[in-house]
Amino acid sequence: MALAYAPSLESTPVRIRERYDHYIGGRWVRSSSGETFATINPATEEALAQVASGTAEDVDRAVVAAREAYERVWRPMRPADRAKFVYRIARAITERSRELAVLETMDGGKPIKESRDFDVPQAAAHFFYYAGWADKLRYAIPGASDPSPLGVVGSVVPWNFPLLMAAWKIAPALASGNTIVLKPAETTPLTALLLAEICEEAELPPGVVNIVTGDGRTGAALVAHPGIAKVAFTGSTEVGKAIARTLAGTGKRLTLELGGKAANIVFADAPLDQAVEGIVNGIYFNQGHVCCAGSRLLVQEPIHDTVVERLRDRIETLRLGDPLDKNTDIGAINSAAQHAKIRELVQSGIDEGATLVEQSCALPTRGWFHRASFFTGVTQAHRIAREEIFGPVLSIMTFRTADEAIEKANNTPYGLSAGVWTDKGAKSMYVAQRLAAGVVWCSTFNQFDPSSPFGGYRESGFGREGGIEGLRPYLTA
Ligand code: NAP
Ligand code: MG
Repeated sequence: MALAYAPSLESTPVRIRERYDHYIGGRWVRSSSGETFATINPATEEALAQVASGTAEDVDRAVVAAREAYERVWRPMRPADRAKFVYRIARAITERSRELAVLETMDGGKPIKESRDFDVPQAAAHFFYYAGWADKLRYAIPGASDPSPLGVVGSVVPWNFPLLMAAWKIAPALASGNTIVLKPAETTPLTALLLAEICEEAELPPGVVNIVTGDGRTGAALVAHPGIAKVAFTGSTEVGKAIARTLAGTGKRLTLELGGKAANIVFADAPLDQAVEGIVNGIYFNQGHVCCAGSRLLVQEPIHDTVVERLRDRIETLRLGDPLDKNTDIGAINSAAQHAKIRELVQSGIDEGATLVEQSCALPTRGWFHRASFFTGVTQAHRIAREEIFGPVLSIMTFRTADEAIEKANNTPYGLSAGVWTDKGAKSMYVAQRLAAGVVWCSTFNQFDPSSPFGGYRESGFGREGGIEGLRPYLTA
Protein backbone atom coordinates (compact mmCIF):
# COMPACT_ATOMS: atom_id res chain seq x y z
CA MET A 1 0.00 0.00 0.00
CA ALA A 2 1.28 3.46 -0.83
CA LEU A 3 2.10 5.72 2.08
CA ALA A 4 -0.01 8.81 2.57
CA TYR A 5 2.02 12.00 2.74
CA ALA A 6 0.98 15.20 4.45
CA PRO A 7 1.18 18.21 2.13
CA SER A 8 4.55 19.92 2.18
CA LEU A 9 4.04 23.16 0.37
CA GLU A 10 6.95 25.31 -0.73
CA SER A 11 6.55 28.90 0.39
CA THR A 12 6.30 31.42 -2.42
CA PRO A 13 9.02 34.03 -1.91
CA VAL A 14 8.39 35.63 -5.22
CA ARG A 15 6.72 38.89 -6.08
CA ILE A 16 4.74 38.53 -9.26
CA ARG A 17 3.92 41.85 -10.89
CA GLU A 18 0.51 42.56 -12.31
CA ARG A 19 1.96 43.49 -15.67
CA TYR A 20 5.23 42.71 -17.41
CA ASP A 21 6.68 44.75 -20.27
CA HIS A 22 9.38 43.79 -22.75
CA TYR A 23 12.99 44.21 -21.66
CA ILE A 24 14.61 46.17 -24.49
CA GLY A 25 17.85 48.17 -24.42
CA GLY A 26 18.02 47.85 -20.63
CA ARG A 27 14.54 49.33 -20.13
CA TRP A 28 11.08 47.95 -19.51
CA VAL A 29 9.08 48.86 -22.58
CA ARG A 30 5.35 48.56 -23.29
CA SER A 31 4.16 46.80 -26.40
CA SER A 32 3.73 49.25 -29.28
CA SER A 33 0.18 47.96 -29.65
CA GLY A 34 -0.50 48.34 -25.93
CA GLU A 35 -1.78 44.77 -25.98
CA THR A 36 -1.06 42.16 -23.34
CA PHE A 37 -1.95 38.52 -22.74
CA ALA A 38 -2.40 36.52 -19.56
CA THR A 39 0.06 33.90 -18.39
CA ILE A 40 -1.75 31.17 -16.50
CA ASN A 41 -0.80 28.90 -13.63
CA PRO A 42 -1.74 25.51 -15.14
CA ALA A 43 -2.23 23.95 -11.69
CA THR A 44 -4.98 26.43 -10.80
CA GLU A 45 -6.08 27.76 -14.20
CA GLU A 46 -5.73 31.27 -12.72
CA ALA A 47 -3.97 34.16 -14.47
CA LEU A 48 -0.67 35.08 -12.81
CA ALA A 49 0.08 38.27 -14.72
CA GLN A 50 -0.47 40.21 -17.90
CA VAL A 51 2.44 40.13 -20.31
CA ALA A 52 3.24 42.38 -23.28
CA SER A 53 2.27 41.08 -26.73
CA GLY A 54 5.29 41.61 -28.97
CA THR A 55 4.65 43.26 -32.32
CA ALA A 56 6.98 43.42 -35.31
CA GLU A 57 7.77 46.97 -34.19
CA ASP A 58 8.76 45.76 -30.71
CA VAL A 59 10.98 43.11 -32.28
CA ASP A 60 12.59 45.75 -34.47
CA ARG A 61 13.33 47.99 -31.47
CA ALA A 62 14.91 45.06 -29.68
CA VAL A 63 17.07 44.09 -32.65
CA VAL A 64 18.22 47.70 -33.08
CA ALA A 65 19.07 47.91 -29.36
CA ALA A 66 20.96 44.62 -29.55
CA ARG A 67 22.89 45.77 -32.63
CA GLU A 68 23.89 49.01 -30.97
CA ALA A 69 25.03 47.20 -27.83
CA TYR A 70 26.96 44.76 -30.00
CA GLU A 71 28.84 47.45 -31.89
CA ARG A 72 29.39 50.00 -29.16
CA VAL A 73 29.97 47.91 -26.06
CA TRP A 74 29.87 44.16 -26.16
CA ARG A 75 32.05 43.31 -29.12
CA PRO A 76 34.80 45.83 -28.26
CA MET A 77 34.85 44.75 -24.60
CA ARG A 78 37.83 42.71 -23.39
CA PRO A 79 36.80 39.04 -23.37
CA ALA A 80 37.88 38.69 -19.74
CA ASP A 81 35.47 41.48 -18.83
CA ARG A 82 32.64 39.84 -20.75
CA ALA A 83 33.38 36.72 -18.74
CA LYS A 84 32.84 38.64 -15.51
CA PHE A 85 29.34 39.64 -16.58
CA VAL A 86 28.41 36.10 -17.57
CA TYR A 87 29.81 34.89 -14.27
CA ARG A 88 27.81 37.53 -12.39
CA ILE A 89 24.59 36.32 -14.00
CA ALA A 90 25.45 32.77 -12.92
CA ARG A 91 26.03 33.94 -9.35
CA ALA A 92 22.78 35.89 -9.30
CA ILE A 93 20.84 32.84 -10.54
CA THR A 94 22.16 30.78 -7.63
CA GLU A 95 21.41 33.62 -5.20
CA ARG A 96 17.84 33.94 -6.43
CA SER A 97 17.36 30.22 -7.04
CA ARG A 98 14.33 29.74 -4.79
CA GLU A 99 12.50 32.61 -6.36
CA LEU A 100 13.29 31.30 -9.84
CA ALA A 101 12.24 27.75 -8.95
CA VAL A 102 8.94 28.82 -7.43
CA LEU A 103 8.15 31.11 -10.36
CA GLU A 104 9.03 28.38 -12.88
CA THR A 105 6.73 25.95 -11.11
CA MET A 106 3.86 28.44 -10.82
CA ASP A 107 4.05 29.55 -14.44
CA GLY A 108 4.67 26.17 -16.05
CA GLY A 109 3.30 23.46 -13.73
CA LYS A 110 6.46 21.40 -13.18
CA PRO A 111 7.08 19.90 -9.71
CA ILE A 112 9.01 22.22 -7.42
CA LYS A 113 11.58 19.52 -6.72
CA GLU A 114 12.42 19.48 -10.42
CA SER A 115 12.62 23.24 -10.92
CA ARG A 116 14.60 23.50 -7.68
CA ASP A 117 16.97 20.57 -8.24
CA PHE A 118 17.25 20.50 -12.02
CA ASP A 119 16.14 23.55 -14.01
CA VAL A 120 17.63 26.31 -11.89
CA PRO A 121 20.97 24.65 -10.98
CA GLN A 122 21.44 23.58 -14.61
CA ALA A 123 20.69 27.11 -15.82
CA ALA A 124 23.29 28.54 -13.43
CA ALA A 125 25.76 25.83 -14.46
CA HIS A 126 25.44 26.88 -18.10
CA PHE A 127 26.36 30.46 -17.28
CA PHE A 128 29.25 29.35 -15.05
CA TYR A 129 30.52 27.02 -17.76
CA TYR A 130 30.36 29.52 -20.63
CA ALA A 131 31.80 32.32 -18.50
CA GLY A 132 34.97 30.23 -18.52
CA TRP A 133 35.03 30.15 -22.32
CA ALA A 134 34.72 33.90 -22.92
CA ASP A 135 38.46 34.60 -22.92
CA LYS A 136 39.47 31.28 -24.52
CA LEU A 137 37.60 31.56 -27.80
CA ARG A 138 40.75 31.06 -29.83
CA TYR A 139 40.60 27.40 -28.76
CA ALA A 140 36.95 26.96 -29.76
CA ILE A 141 37.49 26.32 -33.47
CA PRO A 142 40.48 24.18 -34.43
CA GLY A 143 42.82 26.09 -36.73
CA ALA A 144 41.11 29.46 -36.22
CA SER A 145 43.31 31.73 -34.13
CA ASP A 146 40.86 34.60 -33.79
CA PRO A 147 37.21 33.57 -34.21
CA SER A 148 34.72 36.46 -34.14
CA PRO A 149 31.14 36.78 -32.97
CA LEU A 150 28.35 37.08 -35.51
CA GLY A 151 26.24 40.00 -34.29
CA VAL A 152 22.69 39.80 -32.99
CA VAL A 153 21.30 36.37 -32.16
CA GLY A 154 17.53 35.78 -32.34
CA SER A 155 16.29 32.99 -30.07
CA VAL A 156 12.89 31.43 -29.67
CA VAL A 157 12.36 28.87 -26.89
CA PRO A 158 9.59 26.49 -25.74
CA TRP A 159 7.66 26.10 -22.50
CA ASN A 160 8.97 22.84 -21.13
CA PHE A 161 12.24 24.18 -19.61
CA PRO A 162 11.69 27.93 -19.89
CA LEU A 163 14.58 29.26 -17.80
CA LEU A 164 16.98 26.50 -18.78
CA MET A 165 16.33 26.94 -22.50
CA ALA A 166 16.86 30.69 -22.12
CA ALA A 167 20.18 29.92 -20.38
CA TRP A 168 21.18 27.50 -23.15
CA LYS A 169 20.77 30.35 -25.64
CA ILE A 170 21.96 33.39 -23.70
CA ALA A 171 25.09 31.96 -22.03
CA PRO A 172 26.96 30.85 -25.18
CA ALA A 173 25.74 33.88 -27.16
CA LEU A 174 27.16 36.30 -24.58
CA ALA A 175 30.35 34.39 -23.91
CA SER A 176 31.17 34.43 -27.62
CA GLY A 177 30.62 38.19 -27.87
CA ASN A 178 27.18 38.26 -29.49
CA THR A 179 24.13 40.11 -28.22
CA ILE A 180 20.70 38.52 -28.15
CA VAL A 181 16.96 39.00 -28.48
CA LEU A 182 15.01 36.14 -26.91
CA LYS A 183 11.34 35.28 -27.14
CA PRO A 184 10.11 32.94 -24.42
CA ALA A 185 7.05 30.73 -24.94
CA GLU A 186 3.64 32.29 -24.57
CA THR A 187 2.62 30.08 -21.63
CA THR A 188 5.85 30.50 -19.63
CA PRO A 189 7.37 33.97 -20.00
CA LEU A 190 7.96 34.81 -16.34
CA THR A 191 11.35 33.26 -15.56
CA ALA A 192 12.91 34.77 -18.69
CA LEU A 193 11.66 38.15 -17.45
CA LEU A 194 13.12 37.48 -14.00
CA LEU A 195 16.37 36.63 -15.76
CA ALA A 196 16.15 40.04 -17.46
CA GLU A 197 15.84 41.57 -13.99
CA ILE A 198 18.94 39.62 -12.99
CA CYS A 199 20.82 40.98 -16.02
CA GLU A 200 19.77 44.46 -14.96
CA GLU A 201 21.05 43.88 -11.40
CA ALA A 202 24.27 42.46 -12.79
CA GLU A 203 24.67 45.79 -14.60
CA LEU A 204 24.95 44.04 -17.91
CA PRO A 205 25.29 46.82 -20.51
CA PRO A 206 21.85 47.79 -21.88
CA GLY A 207 20.86 45.96 -25.07
CA VAL A 208 23.14 42.95 -24.62
CA VAL A 209 20.16 40.81 -23.54
CA ASN A 210 16.66 41.73 -24.71
CA ILE A 211 13.47 39.81 -23.94
CA VAL A 212 10.43 40.28 -26.14
CA THR A 213 7.34 38.35 -25.07
CA GLY A 214 4.51 37.17 -27.26
CA ASP A 215 3.19 34.21 -29.20
CA GLY A 216 4.26 32.46 -32.40
CA ARG A 217 3.79 35.62 -34.46
CA THR A 218 6.35 37.44 -32.34
CA GLY A 219 8.73 34.51 -32.84
CA ALA A 220 8.13 34.58 -36.59
CA ALA A 221 8.86 38.34 -36.72
CA LEU A 222 12.08 37.80 -34.79
CA VAL A 223 13.53 35.05 -36.96
CA ALA A 224 12.57 36.95 -40.14
CA HIS A 225 14.16 40.24 -39.01
CA PRO A 226 16.99 41.19 -41.41
CA GLY A 227 19.15 42.45 -38.51
CA ILE A 228 19.50 38.96 -37.01
CA ALA A 229 22.77 37.17 -37.83
CA LYS A 230 21.93 33.84 -36.27
CA VAL A 231 18.76 32.08 -35.18
CA ALA A 232 18.85 29.56 -32.33
CA PHE A 233 15.51 27.81 -32.05
CA THR A 234 14.19 25.14 -29.71
CA GLY A 235 10.68 23.85 -30.27
CA SER A 236 8.61 21.65 -32.48
CA THR A 237 9.78 20.09 -35.74
CA GLU A 238 6.90 21.75 -37.58
CA VAL A 239 7.90 25.28 -36.55
CA GLY A 240 11.58 24.40 -37.03
CA LYS A 241 10.87 23.51 -40.66
CA ALA A 242 8.98 26.78 -41.17
CA ILE A 243 11.94 28.71 -39.78
CA ALA A 244 14.38 26.82 -42.03
CA ARG A 245 12.23 27.84 -45.02
CA THR A 246 12.16 31.49 -43.90
CA LEU A 247 15.93 31.56 -43.51
CA ALA A 248 16.81 29.72 -46.72
CA GLY A 249 19.04 31.91 -48.89
CA THR A 250 19.39 34.71 -46.32
CA GLY A 251 22.87 33.74 -45.18
CA LYS A 252 21.72 33.74 -41.55
CA ARG A 253 23.14 30.99 -39.39
CA LEU A 254 20.66 28.52 -37.90
CA THR A 255 20.58 25.84 -35.21
CA LEU A 256 17.44 23.82 -34.54
CA GLU A 257 16.70 21.75 -31.45
CA LEU A 258 13.45 20.00 -32.26
CA GLY A 259 11.25 17.12 -31.17
CA GLY A 260 12.03 13.50 -30.43
CA LYS A 261 10.59 10.03 -29.96
CA ALA A 262 13.42 8.35 -28.12
CA ALA A 263 13.77 4.61 -27.70
CA ASN A 264 14.73 3.35 -24.26
CA ILE A 265 16.06 -0.17 -24.88
CA VAL A 266 16.07 -2.65 -22.01
CA PHE A 267 17.86 -5.99 -22.46
CA ALA A 268 17.00 -9.06 -20.39
CA ASP A 269 20.39 -8.89 -18.64
CA ALA A 270 19.85 -5.30 -17.43
CA PRO A 271 19.83 -4.58 -13.69
CA LEU A 272 16.06 -4.36 -13.40
CA ASP A 273 15.66 -2.10 -10.38
CA GLN A 274 17.82 0.57 -11.97
CA ALA A 275 16.22 0.06 -15.38
CA VAL A 276 12.72 0.57 -13.99
CA GLU A 277 13.84 3.79 -12.30
CA GLY A 278 15.45 4.85 -15.57
CA ILE A 279 12.23 4.13 -17.48
CA VAL A 280 10.23 6.16 -14.93
CA ASN A 281 12.67 9.06 -15.04
CA GLY A 282 12.83 8.82 -18.84
CA ILE A 283 9.10 9.29 -19.39
CA TYR A 284 7.57 10.88 -16.29
CA PHE A 285 10.19 13.58 -15.61
CA ASN A 286 8.49 16.97 -16.17
CA GLN A 287 5.19 15.16 -17.01
CA GLY A 288 6.89 13.85 -20.15
CA HIS A 289 7.21 17.39 -21.55
CA VAL A 290 10.75 16.53 -22.53
CA CYS A 291 12.15 16.55 -26.06
CA CYS A 292 14.52 13.70 -25.21
CA ALA A 293 11.94 11.69 -23.18
CA GLY A 294 12.31 7.91 -23.43
CA SER A 295 8.81 7.67 -24.82
CA ARG A 296 9.21 4.35 -26.66
CA LEU A 297 10.21 1.54 -24.36
CA LEU A 298 11.74 -1.43 -26.19
CA VAL A 299 11.87 -4.41 -23.82
CA GLN A 300 13.51 -7.72 -24.64
CA GLU A 301 10.79 -10.37 -24.85
CA PRO A 302 11.72 -12.61 -21.90
CA ILE A 303 11.38 -9.76 -19.41
CA HIS A 304 8.39 -7.97 -20.93
CA ASP A 305 5.82 -9.21 -18.41
CA THR A 306 8.11 -8.61 -15.44
CA VAL A 307 8.89 -5.06 -16.52
CA VAL A 308 5.20 -4.30 -17.12
CA GLU A 309 4.30 -5.63 -13.65
CA ARG A 310 7.03 -3.58 -12.02
CA LEU A 311 6.01 -0.45 -13.87
CA ARG A 312 2.38 -0.97 -12.96
CA ASP A 313 3.38 -1.05 -9.27
CA ARG A 314 5.84 1.79 -9.58
CA ILE A 315 3.48 4.33 -11.14
CA GLU A 316 1.08 3.77 -8.24
CA THR A 317 3.72 5.28 -5.95
CA LEU A 318 4.12 8.46 -8.04
CA ARG A 319 2.45 11.38 -6.33
CA LEU A 320 0.43 13.54 -8.67
CA GLY A 321 -0.82 16.94 -7.56
CA ASP A 322 0.10 20.45 -6.52
CA PRO A 323 3.40 21.28 -8.26
CA LEU A 324 4.40 23.48 -5.33
CA ASP A 325 4.25 20.48 -2.97
CA LYS A 326 7.76 19.18 -2.37
CA ASN A 327 6.45 15.58 -2.47
CA THR A 328 4.94 15.92 -5.91
CA ASP A 329 6.34 13.76 -8.71
CA ILE A 330 3.80 14.54 -11.44
CA GLY A 331 2.80 18.18 -11.71
CA ALA A 332 0.39 19.97 -14.00
CA ILE A 333 0.26 19.71 -17.78
CA ASN A 334 1.56 23.02 -19.13
CA SER A 335 -1.55 24.26 -20.92
CA ALA A 336 -5.11 23.35 -21.87
CA ALA A 337 -3.94 22.91 -25.47
CA GLN A 338 -1.20 20.45 -24.49
CA HIS A 339 -3.64 18.61 -22.23
CA ALA A 340 -6.06 18.20 -25.15
CA LYS A 341 -3.24 17.01 -27.43
CA ILE A 342 -2.16 14.33 -24.95
CA ARG A 343 -5.73 13.12 -24.50
CA GLU A 344 -6.30 12.96 -28.23
CA LEU A 345 -3.19 10.81 -28.73
CA VAL A 346 -4.09 8.56 -25.79
CA GLN A 347 -7.53 8.03 -27.32
CA SER A 348 -5.89 7.12 -30.64
CA GLY A 349 -3.84 4.48 -28.80
CA ILE A 350 -7.01 2.96 -27.35
CA ASP A 351 -8.82 3.13 -30.69
CA GLU A 352 -5.92 1.49 -32.52
CA GLY A 353 -6.01 -1.45 -30.10
CA ALA A 354 -3.24 -0.87 -27.54
CA THR A 355 -3.92 -1.45 -23.83
CA LEU A 356 -3.76 1.53 -21.47
CA VAL A 357 -2.48 1.23 -17.90
CA GLU A 358 -2.76 4.31 -15.68
CA GLN A 359 -2.00 5.15 -12.09
CA SER A 360 -5.24 5.03 -10.14
CA CYS A 361 -5.03 8.28 -8.14
CA ALA A 362 -7.74 10.92 -8.21
CA LEU A 363 -7.03 14.06 -10.20
CA PRO A 364 -7.20 17.52 -8.63
CA THR A 365 -10.49 19.24 -9.39
CA ARG A 366 -8.78 22.33 -10.85
CA GLY A 367 -5.86 22.59 -13.23
CA TRP A 368 -4.75 20.38 -16.11
CA PHE A 369 -3.40 17.03 -14.98
CA HIS A 370 -2.75 13.69 -16.63
CA ARG A 371 -2.04 10.43 -14.81
CA ALA A 372 1.27 8.65 -15.33
CA SER A 373 0.37 5.95 -17.82
CA PHE A 374 1.71 3.44 -20.34
CA PHE A 375 0.46 1.39 -23.24
CA THR A 376 1.21 -2.29 -23.84
CA GLY A 377 0.47 -4.13 -27.07
CA VAL A 378 1.81 -1.24 -29.12
CA THR A 379 2.89 -1.79 -32.72
CA GLN A 380 5.29 0.40 -34.66
CA ALA A 381 2.42 1.55 -36.87
CA HIS A 382 0.40 3.02 -33.99
CA ARG A 383 0.35 6.81 -33.74
CA ILE A 384 1.45 6.55 -30.10
CA ALA A 385 4.62 4.81 -31.33
CA ARG A 386 5.36 7.38 -34.02
CA GLU A 387 4.20 10.79 -32.80
CA GLU A 388 5.60 12.83 -29.97
CA ILE A 389 2.95 12.80 -27.20
CA PHE A 390 4.89 15.18 -24.94
CA GLY A 391 3.02 13.90 -21.92
CA PRO A 392 3.40 11.23 -19.19
CA VAL A 393 2.50 8.40 -21.56
CA LEU A 394 4.87 5.56 -22.46
CA SER A 395 4.49 3.17 -25.42
CA ILE A 396 5.89 -0.31 -24.75
CA MET A 397 7.07 -2.64 -27.52
CA THR A 398 9.27 -5.74 -27.54
CA PHE A 399 12.31 -7.07 -29.40
CA ARG A 400 14.30 -10.31 -29.52
CA THR A 401 17.82 -9.48 -30.74
CA ALA A 402 20.07 -6.44 -30.47
CA ASP A 403 19.80 -5.84 -34.21
CA GLU A 404 16.01 -5.89 -34.03
CA ALA A 405 16.14 -3.36 -31.17
CA ILE A 406 18.41 -1.09 -33.23
CA GLU A 407 16.15 -1.33 -36.27
CA LYS A 408 13.04 -0.51 -34.25
CA ALA A 409 14.74 2.28 -32.34
CA ASN A 410 15.86 3.91 -35.59
CA ASN A 411 12.44 3.50 -37.19
CA THR A 412 11.45 7.13 -36.58
CA PRO A 413 12.01 10.39 -38.40
CA TYR A 414 13.50 11.81 -35.19
CA GLY A 415 17.00 11.31 -33.79
CA LEU A 416 17.54 13.19 -30.56
CA SER A 417 18.25 10.69 -27.79
CA ALA A 418 18.11 7.04 -26.74
CA GLY A 419 18.79 4.79 -23.75
CA VAL A 420 20.40 1.36 -23.53
CA TRP A 421 20.17 -0.87 -20.46
CA THR A 422 22.33 -3.99 -20.31
CA ASP A 423 24.83 -5.58 -17.99
CA LYS A 424 27.31 -5.98 -20.88
CA GLY A 425 29.56 -3.06 -21.76
CA ALA A 426 30.29 -4.43 -25.23
CA LYS A 427 26.60 -4.73 -25.98
CA SER A 428 25.99 -1.11 -24.87
CA MET A 429 28.72 0.02 -27.24
CA TYR A 430 27.48 -2.12 -30.13
CA VAL A 431 23.96 -0.74 -29.81
CA ALA A 432 24.88 2.87 -28.99
CA GLN A 433 27.12 3.15 -32.05
CA ARG A 434 24.29 2.05 -34.31
CA LEU A 435 21.56 4.30 -32.94
CA ALA A 436 20.74 7.39 -35.00
CA ALA A 437 20.51 9.69 -32.01
CA GLY A 438 22.48 12.73 -30.88
CA VAL A 439 22.74 11.47 -27.31
CA VAL A 440 22.74 7.86 -26.11
CA TRP A 441 22.60 7.19 -22.37
CA CYS A 442 23.87 3.80 -21.23
CA SER A 443 22.34 2.43 -18.01
CA THR A 444 21.08 5.88 -17.11
CA PHE A 445 18.77 8.51 -18.63
CA ASN A 446 18.34 12.29 -18.78
CA GLN A 447 21.87 13.11 -17.66
CA PHE A 448 22.91 16.66 -18.47
CA ASP A 449 26.04 18.68 -18.03
CA PRO A 450 26.89 22.04 -19.59
CA SER A 451 30.18 20.64 -20.88
CA SER A 452 28.43 17.86 -22.78
CA PRO A 453 26.96 18.62 -26.23
CA PHE A 454 23.27 17.95 -26.76
CA GLY A 455 21.34 17.95 -30.03
CA GLY A 456 19.74 15.89 -32.74
CA TYR A 457 19.89 14.27 -36.15
CA ARG A 458 17.26 14.12 -38.87
CA GLU A 459 13.94 15.73 -37.87
CA SER A 460 15.26 16.43 -34.37
CA GLY A 461 17.30 19.25 -35.87
CA PHE A 462 20.96 20.18 -36.21
CA GLY A 463 23.64 21.95 -34.24
CA ARG A 464 24.66 21.22 -30.66
CA GLU A 465 24.14 23.05 -27.38
CA GLY A 466 26.50 22.69 -24.47
CA GLY A 467 30.25 22.16 -24.51
CA ILE A 468 32.70 23.52 -27.05
CA GLU A 469 30.33 22.29 -29.77
CA GLY A 470 27.67 24.61 -28.42
CA LEU A 471 29.96 27.61 -28.76
CA ARG A 472 30.92 27.14 -32.41
CA PRO A 473 27.53 28.06 -33.93
CA TYR A 474 28.00 31.54 -32.39
CA LEU A 475 31.40 32.16 -33.95
CA THR A 476 32.91 32.63 -37.36
CA ALA A 477 36.49 31.72 -38.14
P1 NAP B 1 6.60 25.23 -30.70
O1 NAP B 1 5.16 25.32 -30.92
O2 NAP B 1 7.47 24.99 -31.87
O3 NAP B 1 7.03 26.56 -29.95
C1 NAP B 1 8.35 26.86 -29.63
C2 NAP B 1 8.51 28.35 -29.63
O4 NAP B 1 8.35 28.85 -30.97
C3 NAP B 1 7.48 29.10 -28.80
O5 NAP B 1 8.10 30.22 -28.23
C4 NAP B 1 6.45 29.50 -29.84
O6 NAP B 1 5.63 30.55 -29.44
C5 NAP B 1 7.33 29.86 -31.00
N1 NAP B 1 6.70 29.81 -32.31
C6 NAP B 1 5.51 29.27 -32.69
N2 NAP B 1 5.31 29.44 -34.00
C7 NAP B 1 6.38 30.10 -34.49
C8 NAP B 1 6.77 30.55 -35.79
N3 NAP B 1 6.01 30.33 -36.85
N4 NAP B 1 7.96 31.18 -35.93
C9 NAP B 1 8.77 31.37 -34.87
N5 NAP B 1 8.46 30.97 -33.62
C10 NAP B 1 7.27 30.34 -33.42
O7 NAP B 1 6.98 24.10 -29.67
P2 NAP B 1 6.31 23.87 -28.25
O8 NAP B 1 5.09 23.09 -28.47
O9 NAP B 1 6.24 25.11 -27.49
O10 NAP B 1 7.44 23.01 -27.53
C11 NAP B 1 7.47 21.65 -27.60
C12 NAP B 1 8.43 21.17 -28.67
O11 NAP B 1 9.75 21.61 -28.39
C13 NAP B 1 8.50 19.68 -28.70
O12 NAP B 1 8.44 19.20 -30.02
C14 NAP B 1 9.86 19.37 -28.08
O13 NAP B 1 10.38 18.15 -28.45
C15 NAP B 1 10.66 20.52 -28.51
N6 NAP B 1 11.83 20.70 -27.65
C16 NAP B 1 13.06 20.37 -28.13
C17 NAP B 1 14.19 20.50 -27.34
C18 NAP B 1 15.55 20.14 -27.87
O14 NAP B 1 16.53 20.53 -27.26
N7 NAP B 1 15.65 19.42 -28.97
C19 NAP B 1 14.06 20.99 -26.04
C20 NAP B 1 12.79 21.32 -25.56
C21 NAP B 1 11.69 21.17 -26.40
P3 NAP B 1 4.29 30.17 -28.60
O15 NAP B 1 4.71 29.89 -27.23
O16 NAP B 1 3.40 31.35 -28.67
O17 NAP B 1 3.67 29.01 -29.31
MG1 MG C 1 1.91 30.02 -17.63
